[in-house]
Amino acid sequence: MTEIKELVKNQKMMYRAGKTMTYTYRIHQLQKLKEMINRYEPRIYESLNKDLNKSTYEVLATELGFLQQEVNHAIKYLKEWMQPKKVKTPTSHKGAKSFIYKQPYGVTLIIGPWNYPLHLAIAPLIGAIAAGNTAVIKPSELTPYTSELIEEMIQETFEEKYITVVQGDKDVSQELLEQPFDYIFFTGSVPVGKIVMEKASQQLIPVTLELGGKSPCIVDRDAKLEVAARRITWGKFVNAGQTCVAPDYVLVHEDVKQQFTEHLKREIEKMYTANPMESGDYSKIVNDNHFDRLTSYLDEGDIIYGGQTDRTNRLINPTIIEKVDWDSKIMQDEIFGPLLPILTFNQLEEVYDHVEHSRNPLALYYFSENEKNQEWITKNISFGGGCINDTMMHLGNNQLPFGGIGTSGIGQYHGKYSFETFTHEKSVLKQTTSFDLAFRYPNSKMGRNIL
Ligand code: NAD
Repeated sequence: MTEIKELVKNQKMMYRAGKTMTYTYRIHQLQKLKEMINRYEPRIYESLNKDLNKSTYEVLATELGFLQQEVNHAIKYLKEWMQPKKVKTPTSHKGAKSFIYKQPYGVTLIIGPWNYPLHLAIAPLIGAIAAGNTAVIKPSELTPYTSELIEEMIQETFEEKYITVVQGDKDVSQELLEQPFDYIFFTGSVPVGKIVMEKASQQLIPVTLELGGKSPCIVDRDAKLEVAARRITWGKFVNAGQTCVAPDYVLVHEDVKQQFTEHLKREIEKMYTANPMESGDYSKIVNDNHFDRLTSYLDEGDIIYGGQTDRTNRLINPTIIEKVDWDSKIMQDEIFGPLLPILTFNQLEEVYDHVEHSRNPLALYYFSENEKNQEWITKNISFGGGCINDTMMHLGNNQLPFGGIGTSGIGQYHGKYSFETFTHEKSVLKQTTSFDLAFRYPNSKMGRNIL
């Protein structure tokens, strides 16, 4: 493996040569990426199963399906996205025309997490390629089979001086952050996001930070409880709750709590059986540290459903907990596992304070039939993105920008927004030389002289 410094230097040379900028080159690379994903499909299922025990259904729904849609979309719209845009010019600039050129940043760094290790390494890469950049990908060390596969796929498909994978832990990541990249795209935790931003600030490298947080799920008195329970069960327990936009906890109206909880239990059993850890088809917790962190939360409230754990295989059954304190660890930390605390409210205004408690969530989900209340929640509470009467589905619509706000992140991507994230909008004013307006100069004679 070429030294990290050398590798970035080679990519800089490649970028400067201008090859990555043409439409023909970009489209060809996107097509190669699409073929790569198709070609490796069986191995992708295998490696994600080894790392996280992901089922074929989950891989297809949350990793492969998303990437196929994203790359097809980029292939379809690339030409349109790349066009320089002519904009209006004020009359004070008579004779001039104004344009916005779509300039790639150059050499980019993509750092990925472990929970959707393929999706979250390749989705930003689609944006980087479409926008005409080169890229270094640093996948997570916690999913070794998938990271190894990503390296193999990329190595087989692209030249190292164009796109390459560097594997390793936080030390390798920090070494990468010392390099003179032109853009850094980071997906991961809030504490590491702060480190990335601090490092990037030393060289004034622009960043996108796709972070996490506690995403609330609010179920109001007038919600359709059965469908709410079904959609929350799906959003919470897919990948055993190890999803950045998973509902972290439920805030349900006091009057419907009992009924909602009964629906929730039924939906869990319909989707996952009464004992999913025996099904062989239920995601496992990524490592012992996360397993121990999650099981330590089990004492912080009353378990009203689930609670079974298996440390050897790192499995935790879907679990519902009530009577948790807002100051307990489970309500302070991002849970990132299959434990669902249920808390209650009486007035919608209370929800505001509760959500503020965990500040700027990445996602928020509100279940209600009342449009006025839907608007109130949407307008008054700060969150990255979310759904009314659903969970997580906003992420799958590439017409919607995906990203956080405040502590849940900076920047956005998906669809056209991925292209824009990896593109600098360069303003260019083209002035005529066939005449000159004298009034702009302090000495108006100057203007006439240059004609
Ligand atoms: P993490 O922050 O621990 O690791 C992410 C990446 O950073 C890994 O590649 C890791 O090697 C690297 N890293 C770790 N420590 C580092 C350090 N000190 N310096 C430099 N690099 C370092 O995150 P994770 O545990 O892999 O992922 C879980 C987190 O990611 C959760 O908080 C989740 O909400 C968030 N997440 C966010 C999104 C999103 O799209 N917003 C998606 C998935 C996960």
